[in-house]
Amino acid sequence: MKFYSLTNNHNQASFKEAVIAGIAPDKGLYFPEKITPLAADFFEKIETCSNHEIAFRAIHQFVSADIPDSILKDILKNVLDFDFPVVEIQEDIATLELFHGPTMAFKDVGARFMANCLGYFSKNESNEVTVLVATSGDTGGAVANGFLGVKRVNVVILYPSGKVSDIQEKQLTTLGQNIIAMEVDGTFDDCQKMVKSAFLDAEITALKKLTSANSINVARWLPQLFYFLFAFKQAKSKGKEIVFSIPSGNFGNVCAGMVAQKMGMPVKHFVAATNVNDVVPKFMHSGAYNPVPSIATISNAMDVGDPSNFVRIRQLYGNDLVELKKNLSSFSFSDEETKDAMKEIYSKSEYVVDPHGAVGYLGLKKYQKKNPNTFGIFLETAHPVKFLATVEETLNISPKIPPQIQKVINREKESIKINSYEGLKTYLMGT
Ligand SMILES: *Cc1c(COP(=O)(O)O)cnc(C)c1O
Repeated sequence: MKFYSLTNNHNQASFKEAVIAGIAPDKGLYFPEKITPLAADFFEKIETCSNHEIAFRAIHQFVSADIPDSILKDILKNVLDFDFPVVEIQEDIATLELFHGPTMAFKDVGARFMANCLGYFSKNESNEVTVLVATSGDTGGAVANGFLGVKRVNVVILYPSGKVSDIQEKQLTTLGQNIIAMEVDGTFDDCQKMVKSAFLDAEITALKKLTSANSINVARWLPQLFYFLFAFKQAKSKGKEIVFSIPSGNFGNVCAGMVAQKMGMPVKHFVAATNVNDVVPKFMHSGAYNPVPSIATISNAMDVGDPSNFVRIRQLYGNDLVELKKNLSSFSFSDEETKDAMKEIYSKSEYVVDPHGAVGYLGLKKYQKKNPNTFGIFLETAHPVKFLATVEETLNISPKIPPQIQKVINREKESIKINSYEGLKTYLMGT
């Protein structure tokens, strides 16, 4: 399977090359040349398959040229060692809990898969690879955890000082070994700019092989299609058409769900729910795509003003807005609406959602109002304790801290403070 650049289709790469480079030389995102549907009986009998079998069948076509079957099976065993339960909280409304992994956010799946692939690919390489990543919170922890101890891979995580939650900061600054945390005196946008500058800096790239671990990397993006299949397996017996609502920021997650649908999974509709960062909802309405600087919200992992994966979604529908609209709705919600939804879910169902999940719930409700008699699943993308202050304040409760989180809270933070690009460059050139 080849992957081609969405900027220039002639720029092609193998899976391995695409993973190691992160992004095409022309700065385009890589996209699979073909998505082949799975046999119809796979979906008919999906409830008889283990999650490992499902994941293997789903990802095989994309990676098999570069990863032997036995290695792929081992990788999937490492990656998928936790549960993905669908929990019905109201009639015809369920949440897909994606927070049972080591850092309690859905990004664990993609980050672990990418780390395992890169570890395998660099096994016989003499050069080390440096993964450079900017985080507004959740990516950093998942990447740090996924790559910890992977040989010949070093990870440098940039995060905005004072702008991630305490738990998120601990998750990315306390692991040590091959994980370096850089605490940037600035915003998330500043971190991202520094990462981009490093990728374009010939003095650095002459010395170091750099790659990114954001969802632009195909090894982080594609495995996200697994949990849509796991959800389908659980919800199939409901006998109703399924609608997925995905709280969206960079739109990698919802795009992966659409890949699962292209592979033949029956889905009636997707809803991409956003906070007030509403570039895509506006585009779906007007057809004009106008990126803007991001606005800070309580669902901060979705504070994105120019969603990087949206080009992949447009590609899936041949850049045809009419076709896309048949399968995707996108709605935006304010922080007030989000908090009200958290309260409503708690009082109606005694279920605690985090602000991102609440945005997903709101999107689903809005869709189901006009499309009743569907079974709706909204993705709960992070455990509510990761957004402790908002949850405590909104619901007036003190949720119990799970053991994964308790463990990191007691560890010692270690970071390198930088206040300009030169700080990053000096570090990369000197190590
Ligand atoms: C990253 C993240 C999202 C957004 O996912 P995208 O794939 O960027 O759309 C939503 N919720 C949480 C908790 C996240 O960490």
